[in-house]
Amino acid sequence: MSVLITGIGELTTNSEVTGDALVIDGAEIAWVGNVGDAPAADERVDVEGRAVLPGWVDSHTHLVFAGDRTAEFGARMAGKPYTAGGIAVTVNATRAATDEELAAVVRKHIAEALRQGTTFIETKTGYGLNVADEVRSARIAAEEADEVTFLGAHLVPPGEDADTYVDLVRGEMLDAVAPLVRWADVFCEKGAFDYDQSKAVLQAAAAKGLGLRVHGNQLGEGPGVRLAVELGAASVDHCTYLSAADIDALASSDTVATLLPACDLSTRQSLPPARALLDAGATVALASNCNPGSSYTSSMAFCVTTAVLQMRMSVEEAVWAATAGGAQALRRTDVGVIRPGARADLHVLDAPSITHLAYRPGVPLTHSVWRQGERTN
Ligand SMILES: [Zn+2]
Repeated sequence: MSVLITGIGELTTNSEVTGDALVIDGAEIAWVGNVGDAPAADERVDVEGRAVLPGWVDSHTHLVFAGDRTAEFGARMAGKPYTAGGIAVTVNATRAATDEELAAVVRKHIAEALRQGTTFIETKTGYGLNVADEVRSARIAAEEADEVTFLGAHLVPPGEDADTYVDLVRGEMLDAVAPLVRWADVFCEKGAFDYDQSKAVLQAAAAKGLGLRVHGNQLGEGPGVRLAVELGAASVDHCTYLSAADIDALASSDTVATLLPACDLSTRQSLPPARALLDAGATVALASNCNPGSSYTSSMAFCVTTAVLQMRMSVEEAVWAATAGGAQALRRTDVGVIRPGARADLHVLDAPSITHLAYRPGVPLTHSVWRQGERTN
């Protein structure tokens, strides 16, 4: 089954191909070009001058959770500071939930994201924090999400000794979870795990063949970026507080700086230094960090709008970061891009250009979405 899409007012491909039409064949893009040169297709869809771009690639979410943190958010907006310790509230609720309840939460949020144009999504464990609950979190995530990350080193469970817990994470817990995931991550931050503890977890994960990611530099300057670059992590996420040395290290590495502006706004932190990263030559991704504590949004459009209006990124830079940048943070070449052979993940805006994503802040602009060649809305 092939579909010719015509009438594209503005086509953002993140690749060398251009045109005003494209053909989807099965789950892949088969052809991109000008409509006069289009090959025959089974079906034709005219998008009537709308902008088409790759579906959002959300490379950072925490969707395997239960419970509610509305009150904590409200208290924070009333002036209480954010600390990493709030994670424990979600851990207790997650451990108490059934498998079916957890799977329903993951599905609900992936569906919510898809309706807004997110066609590829990573999610993490990290609210189980014991072997059994991390394994079932990974299993449920693997059934629903495109990419799964093991985040046993999210927080030391309250009442446990940090070094004993690190030994569990890099030993028995990693052994049990590794077959279910592609990535390992660690929250390298004051109040979570220090440089040595984080490095021990990541090195054990690398020895198991997992790719590496780091949560770092969220609440203040710290060793997260340095560690991520040193170990060749695919991505270091947050990057809210960076030293000049951190920016230089990112610029001269393959480690993507994944910025999570909805989280910084929801915790009343500064926004990350996107302009300095880009000007230095670092690769920047944007992601939602959708989670019930510090960033409860699945809206990549909101992240793009914020990046443009408040972080001095151009619209083109922000859209690239939320599509191809996310793909690079996940070391994927088949998503976040429109070219023959790529996954047919398309986002059609009810607007003539991607500029409207920032020009019309807060307006829902998703017209239609195609995921793996299937129109989903
Ligand atoms: Zn996170």
